[in-house]
Order: sequence, then C-alpha cells, then structure tokens
Amino acid sequence: MTLTGNLLIGQRAVPGNRETIRAIDPSSNQALEPAYAGASSEQMAQACTLAWAAFDTYRETPLEQRAGFLETIAEQIEALGDALIDRAHAETGLPKARLLGERGRTCAQLRTFARVVRAGEWLDVRVDNALPERQPLPRPDLRQRQVALGPVAVFGASNFPLAFSVAGGDTASALAAGCPVVVKAHGAHPGTSELVGLAVARAVAQCELPEGVFSLLYGAGRELGIGLVTDPRIKAVGFTGSRSGGLALCQAAQARPEPIPVYAEMSAINPVFLFDGALRSRSETLAQGFVTSLTQGAGQFCTNPGLVVARQGPALEHFLVVASAHVGQAAAQTMLTPAIANAYADGVAALSENQNARCAANSLPAQGPNQCQAQLFVTTAQAFLADPTLQAEVFGAASLVVACANDEQIRQVAEHLEGQLTATLHLDEADLDSARRLLPTLERKAGRILVNGWPTGVEVSDAMVHGGPFPATSDARSTSVGTAAILRFLRPVCYQDFPDALLPGALQQANPLHLRRLLDGQREA
Ligand code: NAP
Repeated sequence: MTLTGNLLIGQRAVPGNRETIRAIDPSSNQALEPAYAGASSEQMAQACTLAWAAFDTYRETPLEQRAGFLETIAEQIEALGDALIDRAHAETGLPKARLLGERGRTCAQLRTFARVVRAGEWLDVRVDNALPERQPLPRPDLRQRQVALGPVAVFGASNFPLAFSVAGGDTASALAAGCPVVVKAHGAHPGTSELVGLAVARAVAQCELPEGVFSLLYGAGRELGIGLVTDPRIKAVGFTGSRSGGLALCQAAQARPEPIPVYAEMSAINPVFLFDGALRSRSETLAQGFVTSLTQGAGQFCTNPGLVVARQGPALEHFLVVASAHVGQAAAQTMLTPAIANAYADGVAALSENQNARCAANSLPAQGPNQCQAQLFVTTAQAFLADPTLQAEVFGAASLVVACANDEQIRQVAEHLEGQLTATLHLDEADLDSARRLLPTLERKAGRILVNGWPTGVEVSDAMVHGGPFPATSDARSTSVGTAAILRFLRPVCYQDFPDALLPGALQQANPLHLRRLLDGQREA
C-alpha cells in the first residue's frame, strides 16, 4: 500500500499545508518517505466542524450498528496485513513480534468495546416511576441514562503505535461511547497512523456513518495540539505521553471559556515493595523477574518498575548481586525516537551525578544509534526522602533500589511517593501483616496494586484500572485501559415527566432494548 502523507478530514484525503515532518527510523536515523505536512488551523477547524455535525447522529446510532462499526475497524486493520507491521517496525524500532502482539491487542480491544456497546450496561438506565399519591408531595417520573460528551481529541502515544494510537484504547472507548474522534497523530509514526487512519475511514464508509465520526491530522503539538484542545467543538481529550505535554493540554483545556476534561496519562515509577519473607525465600527469582520486567521493550512502558523498596540486609544484598548480573548481560535496545533516547540519557546522567545514588549495574554497550542501556541504581531511604529528584520518571530501562532501615521507613517512602499507575507487593505468608499495614497508603497512591507479579503487561478487561492519582494521570477517577474507559466520555441526563413517545428507546417504559435497569431502587434481573 502506498503512503500518501495526506490528512484525513472525514472521508477526504488531502495534503496539509503547514511544515512537513518525516518519520525517522530510530535504528539508523534515516528519514522515511513520504513527508507529512501539518494541518493548518482551517483544516483542523474543518475536521472539528465535521465531528460536531456528526455528533447528534452518531451518538444515537443503534447499539448493533455502533458495535458493528468497531468490529469493522478491527477487520480493516487486520486487512492491512504485513504492510502495517513493516511500517510500524521501521518507524519505531519495535520488534515485529511485539507489533504483531500489539495489533492483536488493538483489534481485541475494539471487539471488546463492541461487546460492551451491545450489552448496553454503560447506559446505566435508572427509572424512578412517578408517585402521584406520595405525601406531602408527589414524586415526578424520573429517568436517567448516559449520553456521549461530544467530539474527543485523541493524542496518539509514541510507545504504543497501535494499541494507544490512532485506533487504540482512547479512540475505541470514545467511539464506543458515541463520541466522534479527531486524532492528532504522533509525529514518530505518521505512516503507521496513516495506514490505521485509512482503515478507520473505510469502516466509517462501510458502516454508512457520517464522515465526521473520524478525522486524522498531523502537526506540531504546540500549534495543532493546543488548537484542537481549545476548539469549542471538542468536548474531551485523551492523551498518553510526557508530564509536561499532558499538563500543557490540561492548562489549555481549563483556560477555555468552556473548560473540558483532559484524560492525560503521564508519569509513573511504579514502586515494587519486596517484603522480608519473600526476599529471603526467593531473591534470585525476584531479581530475574524484576530485570525481565525492567528491560522489556527497552523499558518504554508506563508501568515499568522504576523503583524497588526493601529492607536493607543480606537478602537485599543478594537480590542486588543477582539483579546486577542480569542487567549486566542484557543487550542494549533501540528506543522509539531520538528525542526519547536523549531524554533517557539525560535522566540516567542526572542519577549518575547524584551524590546520593550509586550505580550498581548497566547493561551491554550500545551497538547502534538511539539505544538504551539498562541501568540499576541504589540509594538509602534517608536520601530518597530528602531528594524529590530521585522520584522523577526516567522513561526507559532504569530503576532505583531504595534500601530502608525498617518497616517504618518503608511506610515513609511509600507515603512520600507521588501518584502511581501501579504498586507491586512481593510477599510470603509471613509478610501479610507488614503488607496489610502498607495497604492504606498504597490505595491512596496507586490505581492498581499487584501481589507477586510484575506491573508491565496490562490486561484489557472489565476490572482493569490503568490510572491513578497525579502525576500518573490528570484524573484519578477513571481508567484508560479496560472496558470502564468508556465512562470517561459519558455524562448523565435525567428526563423528568416525559411522555413515553418522546423518550429515547433506552428509557421507554416497555424497555425495548432489554436493558438491566435500576427500576424503583431494584436492579432488574
Ligand atoms: P510527548 O512529548 O508528551 O508527546 C506526546 C504528544 O503530545 C505529541 O503529539 C506531542 O506533539 C504532544 N505535545 C507534547 N508537548 C505538548 C505541548 N506542550 N503542547 C501541546 N502538545 C504537546 O511524549 P512522547 O513524544 O511520547 O515522549 C516524550 C517523553 O514522554 C518520554 O521521554 C517520556 O518521558 C514521556 N512518555 C511517558 C509515557 C508514559 O506512559 N508514562 C509514554 C510516552 C512518553 P509534538 O510531538 O508535535 O510536540
């Protein structure tokens, strides 16, 4: 398939008329064809106008049609075949096996949201029938359902070019909720974005939906990105990336005459707590598991274990010796972009220069450009508590081990942490009391708490939470992975004393959609 470098404004593929970018193959620093010209503010406005025009029709599409649309997107992505994997590999340096898995996850995610749409539980229908005889005042007839927020601006993430990009989790959940989507492609993988964008556009046409349901734009964050977030027709934002980028979007959204929600997933170091019993009984296995999780995908996961907390002593010393040996044997890996590789080098340099951190190990030297050498640093709880820079995210395969004098210091370290996507506990039976004492702190700090596992690898399921207090995300009340992600793009509307014929189908007395309603305080079977 020939890439064109065109924007997709609804069903129209047109060249942008701002400055151009080309993808860079990070394994060679070679620029890739074609050039992608950024969208002008007029072109961005056209996409937003189309999205707004599509909104009222799209949000009332029958559940079956909307579910079919999500499934058709998955089919169209699969139909792209090897061309998609080859291009994504060239643009990101990610191994093809990883990209094949990510494509599977992307399509499964779309199909999962199709199931969610069909089931209709997300409409959360509540019916309080009128009580005309109630004393001292009658109760009106009240009916509530969830409606879509409006067009959503989605920022593709660099580290998941398929599963969190053009047709990734944010797009799938927004479309499932009934929101048209305008995507700002990530500049690191424009060709991958074009291929997936064309697949979505084909699905829009095949399902006979209004063209404004989906647009794809290229351009610089500070111009196009801020332009999208401040366009009055955009009603919510989905973002994964840096803390500074996420905060810039939050500030722009809050400064609008009509502020809107920004669901930004930004920065986390995902602490791992190794309790005494576990460390004494299996420090070697823990060290191996830890280094595998740390170095997977060059550490370019938001759930990468960037902090290990444990009590000092012989068991921790042994863990460090084994972990250092595994890090020392790990090969350097190509990072996603030159900018990300530079940011990683800066983060590692800051830790290396920190008087209070000692470098315990680094992996084999780089064999090519933009490669990440895994790094393991060690510090004390006292130093960690005194120096906030030691908990800055270093995006890549770097981690800091904090040696604590006792349980109380472990608790202080946990209490001192910023908000996190995950917190992990490695424990044995004998550690349960220590873990129980730490749990209230961790519940305040993290969106997901794991026992005896590793935080990398995020299941797309009903119970998953991929979120957490700031700076993990800008809104801790939601998740960006899993079916609950649909809730971010919905709001409740109550209909009072409506004649049945004027009510939306979901709220009509005969329940034509066969929804499980909350009817006069009782959940229907
Ligand atoms: P990024 O720089 O935050 O960029 C993500 C998207 O946001 C891009 O489309 C970018 O557009 C836009 N953007 C960035 N700053 C903006 C601003 N001030 N105003 C408006 N839009 C803005 O993230 P990245 O390129 O993926 O990686 C850079 C760093 O982000 C990494 O080194 C890492 O530290 C962090 N990161 C973290 C995670 C995580 O999950 N925790 C994931 C990915 C990246 P432009 O590219 O056109 O500026």
